[in-house]
Amino acid sequence: MSGALNIVWFKRDLRVADHRPLAMASRLGPVLPLYIVEPELWAQADASARQWAFAAESLEALRTDLAALGQPLIVMTGDAVSIFREIHQRHGIAGLWSHEETGNGWTYARDLAVSAWAREHGIQWHEPRQFGVIRRLTSRNGWANAWDSDMAEPVTMPPKALTPLEGHWPHAIPTVADLGLQPDPCPYRQHGGRAAALATLESFLGERGRDYRFRMSSPVTAFEACSRLSPHLTWGTLSMREVAQATASRLRAIKHASDPAAKNWRASLISFMGRLHWHCHFMQKLEDEPRLEFENLHRGYDNVRPAMADQTRLDAWCTGQTGFPFVDACMRALNRHGWINFRMRAMLMSFASYDLWLPWRATGLHLARQFVDYEPGIHWSQVQMQSGTTGINTMRVYNPVKQGLDQDPTGAFVRRFVPELESVPDAFIHEPWKWTGASSLRYPPPIVDHATAAKAAKDALYALRKGAGHKEVARQIVTKHGSRKAGTGATARKPKRKAKEVAAAQLSLDI
Ligand SMILES: Cc1cc2nc3c(=O)[nH]c(=O)nc-3n(C[C@H](O)[C@H](O)[C@H](O)COP(=O)(O)OP(=O)(O)OC[C@H]3O[C@@H](n4cnc5c(N)ncnc54)[C@H](O)[C@@H]3O)c2cc1C
Repeated sequence: MSGALNIVWFKRDLRVADHRPLAMASRLGPVLPLYIVEPELWAQADASARQWAFAAESLEALRTDLAALGQPLIVMTGDAVSIFREIHQRHGIAGLWSHEETGNGWTYARDLAVSAWAREHGIQWHEPRQFGVIRRLTSRNGWANAWDSDMAEPVTMPPKALTPLEGHWPHAIPTVADLGLQPDPCPYRQHGGRAAALATLESFLGERGRDYRFRMSSPVTAFEACSRLSPHLTWGTLSMREVAQATASRLRAIKHASDPAAKNWRASLISFMGRLHWHCHFMQKLEDEPRLEFENLHRGYDNVRPAMADQTRLDAWCTGQTGFPFVDACMRALNRHGWINFRMRAMLMSFASYDLWLPWRATGLHLARQFVDYEPGIHWSQVQMQSGTTGINTMRVYNPVKQGLDQDPTGAFVRRFVPELESVPDAFIHEPWKWTGASSLRYPPPIVDHATAAKAAKDALYALRKGAGHKEVARQIVTKHGSRKAGTGATARKPKRKAKEVAAAQLSLDI
């Protein structure tokens, strides 16, 4: 092969549409579209076979799409710097192109190593943004408007054709077994790939999303009513811009319709659009403060919970054996689907952090592995928020019985995932320990008394909040990470939204 190559390094952006690095590099000549399977990344404690299975399906689809353009995806396994070194020695690298990544601590360290290597060899690494996350952000002021502008930019068209590369390049995508990942059965996992992504977006905007705002909170309805786009956004089979623009276009189409269905659609889609902002808002926190994956955002909470998790409690929580039917049903549903809705994620985390008093890092890792849509920036920010260690959010302790009664009043969801409770009368389905036949059940009694455990947890955290210096640190955190309410696109575009609803959303999610 003659002439140095421009490498397009695909990471968690497994598509050819709206892929700026691909479009930009291909204008310069032949490109080498590369995915690096990094065994060390997949050996990290937050990685799982279900995530890889989704990624591998998406890689297959990407390979087909690239092949249709003229050059299929090259897949190499190893550590990124060694692979770039090898390609550089053999063919010469003219430039490296990839999207900016706000990943976990491991990918951050890897990017620093790649960056140092590229600099040393005079290779320029071009990294356009893929989300509305701003690198080296100096202030959150104006952030929401910048997000709106970013998302309004034209979607980048894929190149018309790619020059086929000469020589033999590896294409094989390793299996879960090749990567040595732990078996991780997830029978109802969503499937990866561009076609699945587009079908999911279309069915949400065309049909499923109509009652999104009413049906997103209960796991009985959320599996259908939520967009289910999260794994596609995480793995980049769709871009955030594509989703935001498709939503905006749908909103424009029904702007003047006055029938109740259209009104409902509008409210649901506005609510959905707000969540797209949140995606990047939370990722921005990790981008600005990578330590929040490992350390309390507010260091005043250091040592409040034991550093090591109580293994019995952790196992009971992870396997859905806490004796609280709704908590267990949610965890088992998550384990089998690789997804659960926001409110239930929050409840699972709250139960682990307050009722079981487990350290968030251990429980957060379990959830990360279960989520096919694991996105470190959202995940660790939310994990800390639901554990009360940010110092800036309202402490939200969910009552698992009340949640069950509110979100699964007939107990249908519990019965589906906790079949041991089949014989329990409806009236006791969320509190089977109160039923006279409880001793005959092959189901554990509640692992803790909720009221007592929740009170002890709240007392401990409130005591810290009153401590000297706590407020000052919290103020600094708000300045650095808090959304600027007036300029938040999510709320600024909704002047008619009820003040109470806006306040609740902001309290529970925005900062
Ligand atoms: C403890 C905890 C951990 C979480 N970990 C993740 C994670 O690893 N990856 C992830 O994508 N989401 C995470 N979330 C946020 C949220 O639960 C999921 O984004 C949502 O359930 C995904 O389903 P959906 O695509 O159908 O969402 P929809 O309700 O249809 O929302 C559309 C998109 O908006 C974004 N979004 C929605 N809710 C939130 C939110 N609260 N915060 C930030 N972005 C949001 C997501 O990109 C989502 O795909 C977590 C929430 C909690 C409480």
